[in-house]
Amino acid sequence: MMAQYLDIKAAHADALLFYRMGDFYEMFFDDAVAAAEALDIALTKRGKHDGADIPMCGVPYHAAEGYFLTLIRKGFRVAVCEQMESPAEARKRGSKSVVRREVVRLVTPGTLTEDALLEARRHNFLAAFARVRDSAALAWADISTGAFLVEELPDARIGPELARLAPSELIVTETEAGALRQAAGDLGVPLTPLGGASFDSTASEKRLCSLFGVGTLDAFGTFGRAEVSAMGALIDYLDITQKGKLPLLQPPVRETMDRVVQIDAATRRNLELTRSLSGSRSGSLLSVMDRTVTPGGARLLEQRLSSPSRDLATIHHRLDAIDFAIGQDRLATDLRTALRKTPDLDRALSRLSLDRGGPRDLAAIRNGLEQGRAVAGHCARGDLPDLFAGSVNALGGFDDLVALLDAALVADPPVLARDGGFIASGFDPDLDEARTLRDEGRSVIAAMQKRYCDDTGIASLKIKHNNVLGYFIETTATHAARMLSPPLSETYIHRQTTANQVRFTTVELGEMETRILNAGNRALEIEKQLYKRLRHEILDQAGPISAASRALAELDLATALADLARAENWCRPKVDESRAFAIDGGRHPVVEQALRRQGGDGFIANDCDLTASGGAAIWLLTGPNMAGKSTFLRQNALIALLAQVGSFVPARAAHVGLVSQLFSRVGASDDLARGRSTFMVEMVETAAILNQADDRALVILDEIGRGTATYDGLSIAWATLEHLHSSNRCRALFATHYHELTALAGKLVGVENATVAVKEWNGEVVFLHEVRKGAADRSYGVQVAQLAGLPKSVLDRARVVLEALEKGEREGGATKKTLIDDLPLFAVAPPASRPEKSSPALDMLKAVQPDELSPKQALDLIYRLKEAA
Ligand code: ADP
Repeated sequence: MMAQYLDIKAAHADALLFYRMGDFYEMFFDDAVAAAEALDIALTKRGKHDGADIPMCGVPYHAAEGYFLTLIRKGFRVAVCEQMESPAEARKRGSKSVVRREVVRLVTPGTLTEDALLEARRHNFLAAFARVRDSAALAWADISTGAFLVEELPDARIGPELARLAPSELIVTETEAGALRQAAGDLGVPLTPLGGASFDSTASEKRLCSLFGVGTLDAFGTFGRAEVSAMGALIDYLDITQKGKLPLLQPPVRETMDRVVQIDAATRRNLELTRSLSGSRSGSLLSVMDRTVTPGGARLLEQRLSSPSRDLATIHHRLDAIDFAIGQDRLATDLRTALRKTPDLDRALSRLSLDRGGPRDLAAIRNGLEQGRAVAGHCARGDLPDLFAGSVNALGGFDDLVALLDAALVADPPVLARDGGFIASGFDPDLDEARTLRDEGRSVIAAMQKRYCDDTGIASLKIKHNNVLGYFIETTATHAARMLSPPLSETYIHRQTTANQVRFTTVELGEMETRILNAGNRALEIEKQLYKRLRHEILDQAGPISAASRALAELDLATALADLARAENWCRPKVDESRAFAIDGGRHPVVEQALRRQGGDGFIANDCDLTASGGAAIWLLTGPNMAGKSTFLRQNALIALLAQVGSFVPARAAHVGLVSQLFSRVGASDDLARGRSTFMVEMVETAAILNQADDRALVILDEIGRGTATYDGLSIAWATLEHLHSSNRCRALFATHYHELTALAGKLVGVENATVAVKEWNGEVVFLHEVRKGAADRSYGVQVAQLAGLPKSVLDRARVVLEALEKGEREGGATKKTLIDDLPLFAVAPPASRPEKSSPALDMLKAVQPDELSPKQALDLIYRLKEAA
């Protein structure tokens, strides 16, 4: 056995080998040590190899899924090795033969299909990157839904695309692995290097043609060599991991970059589209928007938020559908009630195609298609918008299949086909007959028991069943004596004596048992055959079922977005080819919701107008910290994005001319893991924007230059603004605390000043969160610091320094040298006394005891005080 183990292990050196032995998967040697640690299970030993103990650990096979997930999360791959024959079959081949075993599957992050291992509301992409000469391409597939896409892309787009797709696994050649390791690592995408042969474009083309049963790939579009190579590698990897059982993939669709809004990784992170900065789903745009009621709808929403469209017709279709759903309240409610009951068709279908499914997946298909019919029934009317009409269309045509599944399956079948019991009675006469025999046998046995009781005169006698003895007669030791002696012993054959019981059988019982067993086995066999047939019937219609599933997701999303729009008072944006960006009363959906939860004053809506005619349109936003600048910046980026997702937007009115690229540089944190300071990160991201933004880009820049010395920062911010204005000529919001920049508004056409208003009240700032035209008068930094609880001595000193600095600036030519010379030396006084408030007059006052003063003395004191002051 060890020899067999080592053979198989040698072929799967990079994976933990789960070696099936009876009811356990066992791991040996280093695998055992690694797995025991990762899974926190006991490490034992078994036998010896080359004189040393063999470390071993194991997990029960029925609980293996959970362990797979833990291992995958910890970065392992798992090779699942099964017994391909029973021990009896092995013995037949030779008395010492080891049971034949084979690896039937490699479990990797990108190839999961089990519900327990997948997040129902997220897609799971497997991606492959290929480079052929000077072109590069990315192919990706979700094997749990069958989606298969590919695109050619320049090097600069690799990072942003990986950020958009967030694949669970990326297949690359060994040579590319080195180059991509950093970018993939930053995004948390595990790399799987694969041999060059998998990427060979000629072999790839053959592989693809045979998979899709076509003579040439031209049937699906024109693909470049790199694209073919990436797709072929992906298929080869599936072949390797699934051991020849390929999932149902749809024919590849070519994704072109100009179809979606380009958003780079930093912008996605900053805008917290699908994950908040802390990495969780809560606090993200997705989390406040998701009102979908099906897993498919939720996956579609995530996909849309990650890839807003640039196609006007697509956007308008989606908006029309939401408009319609808002207008048809009753219909939308009915749809959502039906959708809520829809199982995850995609994932059931994919498990069936990989032959990893069970009766429950057959039922999911039946229930899903039935709900689809109900949904279509609700929509039987003439005035449907295109998106609804198209979806309803895709839901039809399954009457025969549904009728078949309905007749064949019980209402609530078990997960596994193994134990039978999922085919309804009345569907198959042979099955019914076998089952009757089996069940009759059981009632015959009940009757037998009664007869034996009468026969022996032992009322407590029982007929029981266990896996070792089969059926047997059992009685207590006290009663047994009678049965052990004639005449009863002629009929009752002794089988076993336990501590308190004695067990017997009879010839008649033995015969009955065989009949029951045979009938039971036959029933199981028939059910297995029927399972196969039903599975095939379903797979024959895999394409249309996928389309129906997609249609249900579309309808779910449209009604969910309608629900959101109505509840949150969002409006339909006007989206067109212009270069408008006019938002009336815009809000930040996530901040708004957070404020509501805190029960505060509510969110202040703000307008923004970056409508560009010809050149750039830039707002230069000044205002103190905490006034709401970042919020304003992000909310406008989000409104643009939502409009192109084809969703309503959080505003009173919005007009968005198509945006091609969205860039945001908001805040920054040190990226110490990569050895980059805040400033470096900021500059890298700014460089990416200035190098790439075209005149349809929307750019959000927050506090450029903050991370360095004042004059450096100011100069960089200044030059950046000029570049955006004159070279990129885009629509942009530029928040800064360098008030010097506001002067540029007068000089550059299309640049305007705006500020977030604050009020000063009793020496404290009050944030109004209102964005107005014009520049901020000052930054109120000291007041904000006061709110934050800086010690009073520090605040007072800061005011003195600030005043001196500002005075120096007003009078011109104040150098740091003169500043330092002029300022009184700073000394932190003990909290009790305040040096800056000490003076002879004050000292005098402190010494006074008012109770002891006469009016005359008081008057004298005032004269003296006046003199001293
Ligand atoms: P800044 O970027 O100017 O420092 P932020 O945008 O981070 O300020 O906003 C600070 C806080 O002010 C936010 O966390 C939020 O609670 C509140 N806030 C911002 N904008 C608004 C608004 N329009 N209405 C109400 N509260 C707001």
